[in-house]
Amino acid sequence: MKCVCCGENHIICPGDITSRPSELFAPCPSCNPQIRSKDSPVSPDEVVNGPCRCNRRFIDDVMADLYQVLFREGALKGTEPLSSLGTPLICPGLFLRRPPMLPPRSLLLISDLIPVSAAQVAYRDVPELLGIVYHSHEIPGPGDVTFGREPSIREGYLLCGCDVRADIFLSGKGPVIVIKKQADMHIEFPKGIDPKVVSVEEQVRHRHPDVFVDACAGPGTLGMTAAIFGVPQIIMCDVWHASVWSAIQTIRVNQKKLGITEIRICEDIGRRPSVWSGKPALICTASGNGVQIKLYNGSYEFLGPEIPSGNRLTVFDPFDKASFRKNDQFLNEWAQKIGGEVFIP
Ligand SMILES: [Zn+2]
Ligand SMILES: [Zn+2]
Repeated sequence: MKCVCCGENHIICPGDITSRPSELFAPCPSCNPQIRSKDSPVSPDEVVNGPCRCNRRFIDDVMADLYQVLFREGALKGTEPLSSLGTPLICPGLFLRRPPMLPPRSLLLISDLIPVSAAQVAYRDVPELLGIVYHSHEIPGPGDVTFGREPSIREGYLLCGCDVRADIFLSGKGPVIVIKKQADMHIEFPKGIDPKVVSVEEQVRHRHPDVFVDACAGPGTLGMTAAIFGVPQIIMCDVWHASVWSAIQTIRVNQKKLGITEIRICEDIGRRPSVWSGKPALICTASGNGVQIKLYNGSYEFLGPEIPSGNRLTVFDPFDKASFRKNDQFLNEWAQKIGGEVFIP
C-alpha cells in the first residue's frame, strides 16, 4: 500500500503476506549473517559487507555501515559502541527468532544523537534505512489524559526518510496489521503471541458482543482485532492526534481483509489540537460486509450517546494500568452507564 506520508509503496497489507511473515527477513542460501558485538565501535577501515544477491543485508552489517557513514559525517567520534546508534525497529515489526536480513527501506532507527545533515546522508547511502527519528528517552504521546488536567506532551521528529511503519500481530484469524507514525507513538515489540490480542480474541469468542468499544484505542490494535473476529460495530476513541491518524491508516490497511467498501473522513485530524480530552468528535467511519467502524478523537469519559445499542464489550488499555484498575468508581459508573462487560487486557 502507498504510504500517505511519503508516497512510496512501503506499507505491507494483509494480502501481501502469502507465507509466514518472518520469511520477509529470513536468509537465502547465499546470505552470510555474522553477529557483531554491540559493545564495540566499528573501525572506519573495515570493509562492511554489502547486500546479498537476494538484495537483503544482515542487520548488524546495516548498523555497521550506518556507523561508518555517521563517523565520516562527524556525528560520531568513533569510540562509541555500535549500540549507541539507537534503537533499530524493523518494518514491518513482527516477532522473529533470529536477527533479520533487511530488504531495502525496512529499518527505522530511533536515536538521540544524530544531526539532520548526517541523517540525510545516511538515508542516501544506506539502502536499508527507511528513516531516522529523533526522540529523547521518554515515551511519546500525552500518556493517560484526564479531563481538566493539562497533559504534558512528548513528540519525536523525523530526521530523514519516513517513519510510518507497520506492526504485525498474529491472531487466530491471520495477521492483524497496525500502522503507526512512529515519531509520535510509543514503541511496541511484537511478541510471538501478543497477550492483549489474545485476550480480545477470547473475550469476543466468549461474549459475542454486537458492539466493541476500544476506549484508549492507540493505533487501533484491539478494535481492529475485534473487527477481524467478526464484531459488527466497532467504536475506537483516543485523545492523541497521532493515535487517531495511525488508527485511520490501520483501518485502510485492513480494508480488504474486512471487506470494507467505504471509508469516510469526517474531520481532518491534522487540523485538530494534538490532545483533545473533551467530547469525542467523529473523525472517520468505515463500513461494508456487515462491519461498521467509527473512530473518535476525544476522551472516553464522554462516550455514551455515540455507542450503538446491543450487547456491548469495552476494553480499556491505558498506559498506567495499575492506577486505572484502582479506579473502581469510574469502572462501576461505566458499567452502569454503558452496560455490558468491561475488561483490561
Ligand atoms: Zn512512508
Ligand atoms: Zn541472501
